[in-house]
Amino acid sequence: MEVPEEIICVDCGQSAHRLTYPPEEGWEVGDIVAYRCAGCNDRWDLIVEEDDGQTPDHFVSYAAEARAILESRRDQKGDAK
Ligand SMILES: [Zn+2]
Repeated sequence: MEVPEEIICVDCGQSAHRLTYPPEEGWEVGDIVAYRCAGCNDRWDLIVEEDDGQTPDHFVSYAAEARAILESRRDQKGDAK
């Protein structure tokens, strides 16, 4: 399984370089891969998905979705207290 060396940041459109080194045995589904955006300095934690021919763009939109879910969960926890 391959993960991109860099992705396009969906926030600012610049390149985000991979921070995480590939494991010796290679990437596996469910691994977390971190990227750092050169433009806005945002960090992206992506989850390796099943290799079904998806483009890197799809990879990014999935990450943005995951982040939105995490953020909404965080908000809900705050309200409950
Ligand atoms: Zn950015």
